[in-house]
Amino acid sequence: MAFIKIDKKNLYYNLNQLSLKSGNKLKLAAVLKDNAYGHGIELMAKLVSEYGLKEAVVIDIAEATKITNYFDNILILNGTPIVSSKFSFAVTSIEALKSAPIGAKIELKVDTGMHRNGITLDEVKEAIEIIKSQRLNLFGVFTHYKSADELSSELLWQEYNFKKVKQSFLDANLKVRFHSHNSAALLRSSSFNEDIARVGIAMYGFNELPEVYDNLELKPILSLWANRCSTRELKKGQRVGYGGDFEASCDIVVSTYNVGYGSGLFRGSRLSPMLTSEGLPILGRVSMDFISLESTKDEVCIFDNAKEVAKHFNTISYEITTSLKANIKRFVV
Ligand SMILES: *Cc1c(COP(=O)(O)O)cnc(C)c1O
Repeated sequence: MAFIKIDKKNLYYNLNQLSLKSGNKLKLAAVLKDNAYGHGIELMAKLVSEYGLKEAVVIDIAEATKITNYFDNILILNGTPIVSSKFSFAVTSIEALKSAPIGAKIELKVDTGMHRNGITLDEVKEAIEIIKSQRLNLFGVFTHYKSADELSSELLWQEYNFKKVKQSFLDANLKVRFHSHNSAALLRSSSFNEDIARVGIAMYGFNELPEVYDNLELKPILSLWANRCSTRELKKGQRVGYGGDFEASCDIVVSTYNVGYGSGLFRGSRLSPMLTSEGLPILGRVSMDFISLESTKDEVCIFDNAKEVAKHFNTISYEITTSLKANIKRFVV
């Protein structure tokens, strides 16, 4: 099997940069959903908690249960609220709010413009009445930005909407935490003043903002590696792999390495092979568990910058790392 290295020094560098933006590391909530964007949820939880973070965000109870001991609070984005001192639950509709159990920590999501989920601005008043009459344990109120990473002013419009939402809760004397920033919004902001920022991609080392905003360098923390399984000489004219797509134009030495689309590596098109981090093209088709390279090294780095791989496959760094299978061994270096 292939393996993954997580670079602790780069992670802490990124967290230092983000702490400067948020003003305080205690204001950073590590977004560890989807196996920490493929980085490995338990390993990442341990590392960020050692750094001093106290807050995390995950997708469901199963993920939260794996990392409970590392944090003061874990926000669960998609789960049915239960009473728990450690877990808070995103509540994204009036119906869900009405059926929330008394005592469960809930964080109400308000739709300020993304229109994916969350109560509408018009429903805020009704939500406050329900919270008060049902004596719900409202822990937070939050929203999510749809285009903080784009060169547009829509972020400002959503921020303006959220400001009005906050005022409604303050006017109703509900003491809660407010949060709206993802990585891009935090990187763009110059005067962060909310209770927490939910940082995912930036912590993993990618600044996805257009150049004009780009004032902060971040360092990717994940690299994907593979071991050599066998080596052979490919005579001129011999072809390697399924379909024999790669044909040797002279005698070369090739090795098979144990990574493939079964590990989460993209198969892509045979017409434009992906290059490894040392610039070696993958020869022919990517198999389920194997690739061929013109190399004899025992270990090769397949990639150490998911953003470059994403560019090659016409996608985003999020998809490249999140695709890496959970059963790949991950090591901290
Ligand atoms: C995934 C997610 C984030 C983190 O987004 P990044 O762009 O990776 O920083 C923040 N908030 C919510 C609600 C999310 O779903």
